[in-house]
Amino acid sequence: MNTTMNNFFNPVEERYSADEIAAVQQKRLCAMVRHTDQNNAYFHRRYQAAGVDSAGFRGLDDLQALPFMSKIDFREQYPDAMCCVPKNTIAEMHMSSGSTGTPVVMLYTLNDVNQWAECMARCYCMAGAKPGDVVQITPGLGLFNGGFGCFHGARKLGTFIVPTGPGNTQRQITLAKDMKTNVIVSVVSYGIRIMEMAQQMNADLPDLKIGIFGAETFSPAMKERISSGLGIEVFDIYGMTETGGIGTLGQDCCAHNGIHVWEDHYIVEIIDPTTKQPIADGEMGELVITSITREAIPIIRFRTGDLTRVLSRKTCECGRTHVRLAPISGRVDDMLIIKGVNFFPSQVEQSLMKIPGVLPQYRIIVNDNHGVMEMYIEVEAEPGVTGHQVVKQLREDLGFAPDGDVFPPGSIPRQEGKAKRVIYKKDGMDI
Ligand SMILES: [Zn+2]
Repeated sequence: MNTTMNNFFNPVEERYSADEIAAVQQKRLCAMVRHTDQNNAYFHRRYQAAGVDSAGFRGLDDLQALPFMSKIDFREQYPDAMCCVPKNTIAEMHMSSGSTGTPVVMLYTLNDVNQWAECMARCYCMAGAKPGDVVQITPGLGLFNGGFGCFHGARKLGTFIVPTGPGNTQRQITLAKDMKTNVIVSVVSYGIRIMEMAQQMNADLPDLKIGIFGAETFSPAMKERISSGLGIEVFDIYGMTETGGIGTLGQDCCAHNGIHVWEDHYIVEIIDPTTKQPIADGEMGELVITSITREAIPIIRFRTGDLTRVLSRKTCECGRTHVRLAPISGRVDDMLIIKGVNFFPSQVEQSLMKIPGVLPQYRIIVNDNHGVMEMYIEVEAEPGVTGHQVVKQLREDLGFAPDGDVFPPGSIPRQEGKAKRVIYKKDGMDI
């Protein structure tokens, strides 16, 4: 625990009692159901089909009567058929990469941009950042929500912004040194790249204290690697295009005891992804989110596809009262089933990072060999680490031994955006 434990951006709302959270959720949920029903034909049709009358909607007690949404709705209603405000009130847009089809578009009114900035500023403070700190923003300042979210939040908090965007890693390190960067924000895999480059350049970054990483799941062992490699405290930030971008859902605090979700802005449910029924606190399930303060494109019972569980609803040692979720362990559709064993890529990462000398660059190749799923792992390691050690650790942690190879440092291609850790093939061919 460090001295920034009680660093709040919004000390009142971040410490609402359970009753205050429930009251604000009740009021905002009713207003949001009416707003979406009255101002958008798509939402209206869906409420009608589910038998929901927004005028008689009673709030939290009726939450489960509302129909679920998913990424499919965003794709079918592309580009703006879910928009609930007049076009001339939209101030900004962002868009997911759309690697699996039509991109997801998120539109923002000025109030939505402010809501985003508020959530993001809370995250910066929760990580120990203060007004006047130097914040280096490495996610792209473009359609991807990462860069702008970091920017809006940093501006709201009142920091000095170094908007490098991704790439030119050598220059990133030089700038971090010259500008005396205190806080760096990055997608997880690019954080690893920065760490490698800093080590190669033998760069000393004494002012860098805080690293905020997101957009990809990462294992506790990887956090530890980045933390010790760069000599910083590492935070896990959460948010997605559909919820309004980076930081909207929250982050872990200095107690590193789960991700606080801003419950005055979002309602959290965890459901069984098969039965779609709510499940008890502590049980692993799919996270479902309802946004209760967003105007342009609110989400109502949005199935995120992310798997997590409620860790605690008690007041955290940091003083915040908002619910804490376990770090995302994977996505419903990312689960691998190899040789009858179910697991997530993050478990492979956790296992690899336990082996001394293994480096944070790896790939999991999943091949559908005429209907039989096979897994092959490529990982970089320092000289002396053997394939046998890797197989032994994986067998111990996963319950079976995949094939694999150990490569010298620098062999696996680096990416500057999100890393593609899992590569799918069919009968040995790329798909
Ligand atoms: Zn906390």
